[in-house]
Amino acid sequence: MASRRRYDLIAFDVDGTLVDDTVFVWKTLHDYFDTDPESRDMAFRSYMDGKWPYHRWFEHDIKLLTEAGATRSSMLAALDGMRLTHGAIETLTTLREAGARLAIISGSINVVVEKFDLEQYFDEVYLNRIWFDAAGELERWQATPYDVWDKATGLRALAARYQIPMARTAFVGDNFNDVAVAREAGFSLAIHCKSEELAGVVDVVIEEDDMRAVLPYLLEEV
Ligand SMILES: [Mg+2]
Repeated sequence: MASRRRYDLIAFDVDGTLVDDTVFVWKTLHDYFDTDPESRDMAFRSYMDGKWPYHRWFEHDIKLLTEAGATRSSMLAALDGMRLTHGAIETLTTLREAGARLAIISGSINVVVEKFDLEQYFDEVYLNRIWFDAAGELERWQATPYDVWDKATGLRALAARYQIPMARTAFVGDNFNDVAVAREAGFSLAIHCKSEELAGVVDVVIEEDDMRAVLPYLLEEV
């Protein structure tokens, strides 16, 4: 039986959604490098309270991590326990075969997406990026414009670029930073849901630890 897509643009969160055994890659990294929790928390609150723009929070985190010795190889070691969510690749492949455009809208880091070779499945990847020099030291970095509340801005921008009405968009996420984009998307699902607020906003909460459970909501058999 063939499958027809119900949505033309489907966006995914990364940390906790496509990739599991992490809540946020940032927390995984800070825990591994044992950075100062008070300094981390101060930066998080400064952003959440609207005192700092997102990129300042991002740059503060990068500074803490590099001061604690983060390099390409040690960051990859920190991410060693992370795994792809069961069924993630099969889900992405099936949605692409049905002709859906796929996007990542995430506050994660390109290092995670590269570790799992995920970029190939997506038309667009919006996340934080770090580049390393030949010795594996952090050379430069760029904050995403589309995390937390601005994930919704990212989905609207993509929908406009592809001329897809918001009613034909869907989003899959797991935590509080997905609430705004879940509200904005035509249809939204939570998997590995860690936020009561998100659970209250999405159309469907997936209970299974398997990404393929989203497929019946995103495709119809014809
Ligand atoms: Mg997440």
